[in-house]
Amino acid sequence: MSHTQIRVRFAPSPTGPLHIGGVRTALYNYLFAKKNKGTFILRIEDTDQTRYVEGAERYIMDSLKWSGIQIDEGIEQGGDFGPYRQSERKEIYKEYAMQLIEAGKAYYAFDSPEELDQMRKKLEEEKAANTSYNPSIRLQMRNSLSMSKQEVVQLIENGTPYVIRFKTPENETIEMNDLVRGNVKFHSSTLDDKVLYKSDGMPTYHLANVVDDYLMKISHVIRGEEWLPSLPLHVQLYDALGWKNEMPEFAHLPLLLKPSGNGKLSKRDGDKLGFPVFPMQWTDPKSGDISAGYKEDGYFPEAFINMLALLGWNPGTEQELFSMDELMDEFSIEKVSKSGARFDPQKARWFNHAYMQKKENSFLAKELETILEQKAVKNNQLDLEKICSMVKERAELIPELWDQSFFFFEAPEEYDEKFLKKKWKDNTSEIIKNVADVLNGIESFQKEEIEKQIKDHLEKQELGFGQVMPHLRVAIVGKPMGPDMFDILSIIGKEESLKRISAILNRVN
Ligand code: GLU
Repeated sequence: MSHTQIRVRFAPSPTGPLHIGGVRTALYNYLFAKKNKGTFILRIEDTDQTRYVEGAERYIMDSLKWSGIQIDEGIEQGGDFGPYRQSERKEIYKEYAMQLIEAGKAYYAFDSPEELDQMRKKLEEEKAANTSYNPSIRLQMRNSLSMSKQEVVQLIENGTPYVIRFKTPENETIEMNDLVRGNVKFHSSTLDDKVLYKSDGMPTYHLANVVDDYLMKISHVIRGEEWLPSLPLHVQLYDALGWKNEMPEFAHLPLLLKPSGNGKLSKRDGDKLGFPVFPMQWTDPKSGDISAGYKEDGYFPEAFINMLALLGWNPGTEQELFSMDELMDEFSIEKVSKSGARFDPQKARWFNHAYMQKKENSFLAKELETILEQKAVKNNQLDLEKICSMVKERAELIPELWDQSFFFFEAPEEYDEKFLKKKWKDNTSEIIKNVADVLNGIESFQKEEIEKQIKDHLEKQELGFGQVMPHLRVAIVGKPMGPDMFDILSIIGKEESLKRISAILNRVN
């Protein structure tokens, strides 16, 4: 472990949209790199051609970009250790597979799928503890350990399909330090002779991953817990290739759990409970099915990242809001927890609401303007910044800026029926009509003036606020919600206010 330079990689396989757990892995790698003045690399692990999904690679890069995670080396950025797409490195892996064969650390295997099936059945019947291709069974199979050299050469010359398998050392304990989990121990009897190289001329994940981490001088492998079972094989591969001294350090991150805490967070949970599990919207290239994304649902990337950062990492203080720069300063692997992190959709909204309050009103006004354009709603030359400043307190996601402000732009199309039934008394219409007359008489239709005149009027008439204002609000907004009533009246103007009042009077009479 003699790395002086910190180099980490995020190594997704382009098999579909990137799950938010994947974004968190990328984020922790990124934060670790930046904290330690290191390099963050994106490597695309696309050696499994059967699982390749059109558009996934682009999606991964776009998602990282939206999240504010900047790649130092990668397929678009270049770098001294390319190519960064594994399918373009085929020749390299073959060389190392051959090196392992020559050193007696790996072997050719010619077993057909049917033969492998039979082997599994036989082991199952014998109730063997390890039912995969393992050291105790390998000599009964068709491979270069059980056959003569001549036979093997002949089979290869005849073009018989083969794979190259790792020759798992027998009776060994593999012990490792994981930066999150501490000491981890595996016994080789639980391992099997994994395929390293496939008949299609492509390496498997294990070989390609280890070879590339070595060649790309990766100092720390930070990845999801689901890869922990692969660790003993990877360690043995470093050993077999003679790279033990250059082996990276490992950190396996805890799982992201369902909101209930039971099991891994899945797309189904998101669909059921109505929250996205992907950073950006994804359209399945085959079925055309659309999955929701944080971006399109109206989350700020800063809020999304802040929320993810705290799912599995704890700063050790009460602080919850962190900018990317602060995260870079504060992050440390020592504070990553061993146990799974429960995803909380309410908390995700809470973060977004917090960032909504921090955003400049001019920024939010642009978002609102975009919404108005999409809805083909005229903005009537209203001051969008002012409107945003008034409603953002009630908005969690960006589209809610509209839900909380629509009444500035258009008259309500319907009224809160329950309110009308319960609260609109026999004398209410008369009261509201008088209020309209007061409004009509105001010359300078400004908030302060409106407020003063209405209050004077109520006092003179000996009317309580509660007998008038909620009703006036329902007339103007449609329901008892929204910011200060006098603000709303002054912004929509006298003419529009009077129009809306007469509309509700027509409706209730
Ligand atoms: N290609 C693996 C994945 O899809 C990478 C695992 C690792 O980081 O070693 O997650």
